[in-house]
Amino acid sequence: MRKTQANSEPRHSKVLIIGSGPAGYTAAIYASRSALDPMLVEGPQPGGQLTITTDVENWPGDTSVQGPELMMRMGDHARALGAEVVSDYIVDVDLSQRPFTATGDMGDRYTADSLIIATGANARWLGLESETRYRGQGVSACATCDGFFFRNRVCAVVGGGNTAVEDALHLANFASEVYLIHRRDSLRADKTNQARLFAHPKVKVIWNAEVAGVLGDGTKVTGVELRSTKGEAPTTLAIDGLFIAIGHDPATGLFKGQLVMDEEGYITVTPGSTATSVPGVFAAGDVQDKHFRQAVVSAGMGCMAALEAEHFLINEAAAAAQVEESLA
Ligand code: FAD
Ligand code: NAP
Repeated sequence: MRKTQANSEPRHSKVLIIGSGPAGYTAAIYASRSALDPMLVEGPQPGGQLTITTDVENWPGDTSVQGPELMMRMGDHARALGAEVVSDYIVDVDLSQRPFTATGDMGDRYTADSLIIATGANARWLGLESETRYRGQGVSACATCDGFFFRNRVCAVVGGGNTAVEDALHLANFASEVYLIHRRDSLRADKTNQARLFAHPKVKVIWNAEVAGVLGDGTKVTGVELRSTKGEAPTTLAIDGLFIAIGHDPATGLFKGQLVMDEEGYITVTPGSTATSVPGVFAAGDVQDKHFRQAVVSAGMGCMAALEAEHFLINEAAAAAQVEESLA
């Protein structure tokens, strides 16, 4: 339960982890096993994105597991190894000097010798009430995660970027038919992806159309209402699954101006590493990964971040000892 008053003294840790998705919890597990006594701030969605899904069928070791259960187990694992998990929401950070400082929304302050950012990303939605109602019942923002459930069914993807096109091609492996619904008459996806899409016998593009509403029978999606962006008459399309692929927003507002990011706001890391532009600050999971967006990938990056934080702290301590020795 959240408390109502801020602690007056900052709480210090060797490794502070912001975010409690697969990346954050895995970082906490590894940092705990390295005896770094990490502190993890859960944020607004304890357990992260997987807590809003049902079946997860691609987490190694679990043929099928409920998302919330998997995340609860990850949290329990981190706590059992000694990670301190704090219910707070970070609203400000200062990465300009060490120790780094983070401030929670009640004013609590956290200082840390190293920081692991695992704040994830959020899928953009169309913003329709019917879309929200059928989320998890045929409406999804993750074709890689949920496509498998639409074997021999009819699916539609909304969007015209690389994600939408790749999602449509992925769905075509399972579905009987796939519609790509795009609001304009040209795609922004790259030409290779476009060529694959246009050549695929199961895929049909519906140009100049927007989804005006999701139709269903109360338990599952049965179709969509389409509105023409060219002033033509509205139509309906019978489908079983609707995949929204109109982009994601990485949760990086906090770090703007303090870390190098790409034009879409994803944190830039050294290739093959989780190191950001500030030494001692590491970024893991969807907050830096716009390609894979998978739990297992995020968890892997959480592991990398914790090991890199450990090496950073060891090197810092060795450098400090050397300075002390030279002054003695
Ligand atoms: P997230 O899970 O996004 O977690 C981010 C964390 O950061 C949250 O705990 C949040 O509270 C915290 N946070 C954010 N801002 C702050 C702040 N200011 N202060 C403190 N904390 C903060 N992937 C699969 O591999 N298989 C699947 O079957 C699958 N199904 C999915 C179904 C759905 C509906 C969705 C949305 C995603 C699915 N994914 C699936 C994708 C997967 O959930 C993500 O790739 C993964 O959760 C990313 O992990 P993460 O740790 O990077 O971030
Ligand atoms: P994106 O490139 O921003 O494309 C989003 C698409 O959604 C656009 O076509 C946009 O339409 C449409 N859209 C946005 N809001 C909408 C709304 N409210 N209603 C209907 N349609 C809407 O996003 P992305 O495809 O997720 O890609 C993100 C980045 O990752 C891009 O840089 C992309 O190239 C990259 N990526 C690369 C690969 C790859 O290289 N293989 C794979 C995936 C992603 P408009 O076109 O009309 O704006």
